[in-house]
Amino acid sequence: MKDEIGIKKYRKAMEKALKPERYEHSIGVAYTAAAMAMRYDADVQKALVAGILHDCAKCMDHEEQLKIIKKQGLPVTEFEIKNPKLLHAGIGAYLVEHTYGVRDEEILSAIRYHTTGRPDMTKLEKIIFLADIIEPNRRMFPEMEEIRRAIFEELDTGLVLTLKYLLEYLSREETQIGPMTEQTYRFYTAGGKEEG
Ligand code: FE
Ligand code: FE
Repeated sequence: MKDEIGIKKYRKAMEKALKPERYEHSIGVAYTAAAMAMRYDADVQKALVAGILHDCAKCMDHEEQLKIIKKQGLPVTEFEIKNPKLLHAGIGAYLVEHTYGVRDEEILSAIRYHTTGRPDMTKLEKIIFLADIIEPNRRMFPEMEEIRRAIFEELDTGLVLTLKYLLEYLSREETQIGPMTEQTYRFYTAGGKEEG
């Protein structure tokens, strides 16, 4: 992505589409992702764009989200229907492509998997998944500092630590941890190989 620099036009769109706190979070994710991209030789511009847009569907109500899924025939899992908070990832990827005109498959998949992760993630998928959790506006939790440090030291080590935290702690809260995140954790604790 060398034709554009920055995220000005997407910022403006997100300021309209999102509630103020969610907008602030999205900016935090964009710049955290950009810093991670610098650290790990990923495309900084793509990280910014994926970061600012990743929650673009988050402030839609669930009925509206389900309508889009039906109308566009978007793939959806049983688990997502039961946990509609997860729906915004897939719909977000759809909107980013069709409403915001981003055709870059790396950006789209980073948005599609930002809530769950998936086995064998691309570098940008990892960056957005993790930046979403560690961006500076996020509420602190006891492991936050350790996780932040680990993520900037070694990406996959940070990823495993973060997944472990998600599975152990957040599963007890409102945030639902689904089979996809469990699979992702198993994949990376097995050294990043597909299960036999
Ligand atoms: Fe999200
Ligand atoms: Fe987010």
